[in-house]
Amino acid sequence: AVNSPECLAAHVSITGGKWQTRFPPEPNGYLHIGHAKAMQFNFGLAAKHSGCTYLRFDDTNPAAEKQEYIDSIRDSVDWLGHKPFKVTYSSDYFDELYEFALKLIRQGKAYVCHQTKSETAASRQLLQEFQLYCSRKCLPRYGTPLPFGAASPYRCRSVKDNLILFDEMKRGLWEEGTCSLRMKGDLRSDVTSMWDLAAYRIKFEKHPHSSDRYCIYPTYDYTHCLVDSLENVTHSLCTLEFETRQAPNGPYYWLLDSLGLYKPITWEFARCNITHNVLSKRKLNRLITEGHVTGWDDPRLLTIEGLRRRGYTPTSINRFCFELGTTRNDNTQHFSKLERCIREELDDVVYRRFAVLDPLPVIISNHPGTPLPVNCPLHPKFPERGIRTLNLTSTVFIERSDFREFDDINFYGLAPGKSVRLLFGYNITCTGFHKDASGNACLLKAIYVPDSLNTKPPKGTLHWASADFVQGEVRVYDKLFQAEVPGKKDDFKQGEQTHYQTEGSDAVHCTDVDWLSQLNPSSLVVHENALLEPSIACMADKPLGFRFQLQRLGYFTIDRESTLKKPVLNRIVTLRESKDL
Ligand code: ATP
Ligand code: MG
Ligand code: MG
Repeated sequence: AVNSPECLAAHVSITGGKWQTRFPPEPNGYLHIGHAKAMQFNFGLAAKHSGCTYLRFDDTNPAAEKQEYIDSIRDSVDWLGHKPFKVTYSSDYFDELYEFALKLIRQGKAYVCHQTKSETAASRQLLQEFQLYCSRKCLPRYGTPLPFGAASPYRCRSVKDNLILFDEMKRGLWEEGTCSLRMKGDLRSDVTSMWDLAAYRIKFEKHPHSSDRYCIYPTYDYTHCLVDSLENVTHSLCTLEFETRQAPNGPYYWLLDSLGLYKPITWEFARCNITHNVLSKRKLNRLITEGHVTGWDDPRLLTIEGLRRRGYTPTSINRFCFELGTTRNDNTQHFSKLERCIREELDDVVYRRFAVLDPLPVIISNHPGTPLPVNCPLHPKFPERGIRTLNLTSTVFIERSDFREFDDINFYGLAPGKSVRLLFGYNITCTGFHKDASGNACLLKAIYVPDSLNTKPPKGTLHWASADFVQGEVRVYDKLFQAEVPGKKDDFKQGEQTHYQTEGSDAVHCTDVDWLSQLNPSSLVVHENALLEPSIACMADKPLGFRFQLQRLGYFTIDRESTLKKPVLNRIVTLRESKDL
C-alpha cells in the first residue's frame, strides 16, 4: 500500500481531490460474492468522496476470456445496483500500452527473452538461493555477484535488437511461447515481483473485445498500473495477494516511475471467503466443467447469478458485504451469516403459501363432498394483509415425514388414532392406513372434526395440500461442501486464523486434502411430485417474479426453468438456522 505525499499531491492536481476508483474484473468467469464485496468497497468509497468508479474489464488474456462473461458481469454489476461512471476495457488502451513498451525498450528497461517456462523458473530459483546466501553470510545483496544463470541470458540484448524482435513478435513472426517481452526490474530486490516479470506474451487467439488486431498481449502486471494511471484512478484498491507488487519498491510504482506517469494511491484488503463453498474462478470452472454443478448460475454456487437464481435479493447480498467490513485479516465468513441476511429480509415481507414436497394422501371419510373453504392468512404476523381461501377437499395430502406408523412422545405428526390440526383448518384423526408392496404407508384414512375450526389445536399442526393443488418440482438446496473450508484438513473455526498460499494471483486455501472429495452428496434434493398451492402455480412462468414462504418448509422462489406446465421452485433458505452448520 502506498499513500505518499507525492501520490496525494498528484491526486489533487489530477482530479481536484475527487476520488476515482475502479472495479477491474477479468472476464474469465462470472462474478461471485467476493466481487460483490470488492464492488461495494470501490463504489462505496468513491461515492462517499463524491467521486466515481470505472467498471474496467481487465481483458488481457484472450485464451480465458469470453463475451458471455463480459455480458454476465455487466448484468451482475447492474443488478447489485452499482452505476459505473464509465465501462472500459484494458484492451481499449492496447495502442498506448504498446507505445509505452517501445519507450521502455528504448530506455533499456525491457528486453525480449527466449527462456522457456522451466528455464525462467530455474533462474528464479537461483535468485531465491542468492537471497538466502546473502542473508546467511551477511553479505550486501547489492555488490555481491549473482550466480551464473540467475539472470536471463537475453537480458543484455541491445536496444536495437530488442526493438526489432518486439516488432517481429507483434507481426506474428514468432510462435506462441517462443519469446516474451520482460521488464528489466531489479534481480537483487527482495521484492520477487521485481525479478523481470513478463510484460508481453504471444497468443494467436481472437480477443472478445479487440478482435485480432494484436497477437501479443500485455500481462496483468504490466497493464494494471498503466491503465490505473491512464484512467486517473486516485485510489487503486486490490486484494492482499497484490501487496508486494504495489509496495513502494514493487513493479507497480517502478513502471509508472520509469514512464514518468501519474501514480495512484494503492490499498489492499483481504479476500472474502465463505464456509462450505469455494470462490476462486479456477475452482468454480472445475466444478462446472466436471459437471458437479449445472453451470455458473447453479443456485448452490455463490456467484451473483447463482445467488440471484436461488432467490437472493441485491439488498441481502449488499447487506452481507456491508456487515463483512473491509479488513486486512483473514475474512472467512460463515455461510449462515449470508443466509441470515436473506431470511431476515424476507420474513416480514413475503406472503405465506402451502406446498407438500413428498405427498401422502389422506382420505377424509366423513367429508361432505363439496370442498370446505379454509381461510389462511397471507402473513400470520400481519392479519391486516388479508387472507386467501384454500379448498379442503375430501382427499388431502400431508408430508410423508409427517406420518408414523408408531407414535412417539417427541413426534408432532400424525399416527394411527392420533389427532393433528391441518394448519388454519380442521382437526383430523387418523383412523387407519394402507401399505404398499414395500411396506411403506401409501394411503391414510381419517375423519375430520367439523366444529374444530379456530379452536385450540392439538399438539401437532401440519401443512397440507388439496386435490386442486398443482404438481410441480421443488429443488431443495443445502451447502455445496461438507467441509467448512474445502481442501483444508482441520475444519475452520470462527475467529481462528486460516493459512493461505498464493498461487499466481489466486489466493487459495492450503490444499491438504482433495477439495472435490468434500462435496456434499445431498447439496440438491429434487422433489419432482410436489403439490403446490394454485396461487403459486399460476405464477410459475414468472421466474423470480415473487418470493414466498412455504409454511413449515422455508423461503422459496420460481426457478428460471419453470413454466406454467411444469412449475419449478427453488428453496432460498430454511426457516431457521440449521444446527449442523
Ligand atoms: P478469482 O481467483 O476468483 O479469479 P480474481 O482476483 O482473479 O479472483 P478478478 O476478476 O481479477 O478475480 O477480480 C476483480 C476484483 O475483485 C479484484 O480487484 C479482486 O481483488 C477482487 N476480488 C476477487 N475475488 C475477491 C474476493 N474473494 N474477495 C474480495 N475481493 C475479491
Ligand atoms: Mg485478477
Ligand atoms: Mg483470476
